Parts: sequence; C-alpha cells; structure tokens
Amino acid sequence: MFSLYKKYLELIDNILEAEFESQKPFIKCKKGCSLCCEVGDYPFSRLEMEYLMAGILTLDVQAQKKIKAEIKRLLEDKASFNGRFMHRCPFLSEEKTCVLYKRRGLVCRTYGLASFENSENGVYVKLPECVNEGLNYSEVFDGKDLVVEKFKNFGVDIPINHSLSLNYYERNLPDEFSGLEFGEIRPMLDWFMQK
Ligand code: SF4
Repeated sequence: MFSLYKKYLELIDNILEAEFESQKPFIKCKKGCSLCCEVGDYPFSRLEMEYLMAGILTLDVQAQKKIKAEIKRLLEDKASFNGRFMHRCPFLSEEKTCVLYKRRGLVCRTYGLASFENSENGVYVKLPECVNEGLNYSEVFDGKDLVVEKFKNFGVDIPINHSLSLNYYERNLPDEFSGLEFGEIRPMLDWFMQK
C-alpha cells in the first residue's frame, strides 16, 4: 500500500543526508536531544499520518495503549485551549526516542536544518526553533537575524539555495512519483479529532 511512499522516503532521506552534511558546521543534532519532539504541533499530511499510524500495530500492546492514552489526554487538553496548541509528541518515548522513527513525518526529518526560500523581497531564511536554545545555527545568529559576517568564521560564504518544505518536494518530484498524493496537512492531533 505504501510502496511508492517508501520509495519517496528513500529519495528524501538521501537528499536530507546531503543537506545535513552541507549544513554540518551549524548542526548540533545528536542522539538524546529530543527538543524538536518536546514542543510543537507537528503538521502531517494525510499520507504521512496514515503511514505513521500503520506502524502502531508493530509496537507491543503496552506501548500502543500508552500512546493511545497520551493522545486522549492531549485531545482533552487541546479542547479547553484557545490558540495554537503546542505539546510533546505522543510518539516520543520516556527514553527520548521516537517509537516510530522510520515512519516519522517530513517535519521530523527536516527539523534542525535551515531552509532558504526565494521570495519577492529576496532570500527568506527559516531557522529551526532550537537556534533560540543555543543549538543549530546559534553561532551565526544574533537573536534576530543571521549574521553573514559570522559565516566566514566557518569558511562558508553564505548558505543559500536550500529549500526544504514539503511543498517544495511535492513540486519537484521525479515523474515516477506523480501518483503520490499527500492530501491535506493538519497538526498531528487534529487527525485524531472526531468530526
Ligand atoms: S513522530 Fe517521532 S520524530 Fe516526529 S515529532 Fe513525534 S517523536 Fe519526534
């Protein structure tokens, strides 16, 4: 059922491996750091969510129960909250690892990288939130903007031309992926809400 999507993920993982390598001087991601899974709303497309949830059955019963209970608890909290509901991901284990790592979404795979998009007003740069925690890109960030001069200390002129959004990957896929439909994108918890 997911064979084309799995192939797509192989392609994306290869691209992202190269992206992480090219941004290596500014990346502080390491095993045990789960900051990106601690606070967020985790936008997932329908396809990404279906693939993630299909993985639930591969977990032991206890783990499945725990995730379901956590989702239920989060939905209750969300129901009495106004605004954008940010939360710990229910798939993050107590050991701070993703219980469905191989099935994680694109937002999880790309987190930590800076993305550089061309806009009418020039190059728009989006930094990972962890820059504010002294992590990725913090050495070349002044609290508001990237400081081009600081890049030179890393032997890098200026990093441009990376574009890492899901839209970008949907638009620029090779023909063999033309049948791949991601569907609507929603915050992760919204996929569990009764309509
Ligand atoms: S699905 Fe996994 S990688 Fe993605 S936010 Fe949740 S715990 Fe983190």
